[in-house]
Amino acid sequence: MKERYSRQLLFKPVGENGQRKLSESAVAIIGCGALGSAIAETLTRAGVGEIHLVDRDYVELSNLQRQQLFTEADASEMMPKVTAAEARLKAIRSDLRLYTYLEHLGARLMEELTASCTLVMDATDNFETRLLINDVSVKHGIPWIYGACVGSSGVVFPFIPGRTSCFRCLLPVLPAVNETCDTAGIIPPAVQVTAAMQCTEALKWLSGNEEAMRKKIHHFDLWTNAQVDIGVSRIKNGQCETCGDSPRFPSLEDASASSYAVLCGREAVQVLPDPQRKISLGEAEKVGHRLGGGVRSTPHFVELQVFGKRAVLFADGRLMIHGIRNVSDGRKFYHQLFG
Ligand SMILES: [Zn+2]
Repeated sequence: MKERYSRQLLFKPVGENGQRKLSESAVAIIGCGALGSAIAETLTRAGVGEIHLVDRDYVELSNLQRQQLFTEADASEMMPKVTAAEARLKAIRSDLRLYTYLEHLGARLMEELTASCTLVMDATDNFETRLLINDVSVKHGIPWIYGACVGSSGVVFPFIPGRTSCFRCLLPVLPAVNETCDTAGIIPPAVQVTAAMQCTEALKWLSGNEEAMRKKIHHFDLWTNAQVDIGVSRIKNGQCETCGDSPRFPSLEDASASSYAVLCGREAVQVLPDPQRKISLGEAEKVGHRLGGGVRSTPHFVELQVFGKRAVLFADGRLMIHGIRNVSDGRKFYHQLFG
């Protein structure tokens, strides 16, 4: 222990006391793409005791440019990201207590995670999920570290219930991120800097150095060399549906309603199963054969080539349909397959 973390123990704000706190802490990382890979590796190496890693996707070739935990073998085997990450993280540190969740993050799972975790790391690619993290964070009094990046730029801010405004309050002043990696692309350093800043805030919180945490939203662009810190301490909306006087946590209410989602980072639509009628891997195989399409089965999913499209059904009943970009086409395709 002493040797492994010797350079971090020498760093005074952490020291032996902070290192012990890190080893006793449990952190949820939401998403295991570019930011999630970098965050998971850094927190593992830093000695965080327990990590809960959530991601619904599998590794593809276009991920390898910036998602540091994955290899060509993971992409060719279409390995679920959390499964590939688990192998790599356990190889880095065998005493890490790692829990993985190969599923879509809904309100139920998000609330479950707060029972064991004292900090949530945002490594998602969409606002809907961040609003859900925000609602759960305020409801249960657990901080989360916001991070987003696109192109050569990134944004970071730690949300601490009771001390900072909440994400919903700050939405009007957050730097506009209208573009996605799909449209504007991204370079790896933008990921690494964003993740590094998020991890620094996490280490401050977990090691008992709360007073050192950022109080302003940090926005940088590595290509134009611009950076700005946006003061937000006076922004607070008394009517806020999450942190206002009579909160109703809308994302927790609405979460079940959004069963169709267009995925960022790929041309694909994801369909969540009706809890009453979840399609099994076996059923999906049968449908694929009946339609005369290509069928490929792994322990984690069934891949179908039907109606000129590629679709992947996961063991939890989600269907990811590639090559379409809008929800109504996704809905139509799902019903063509499974009625
Ligand atoms: Zn608020």
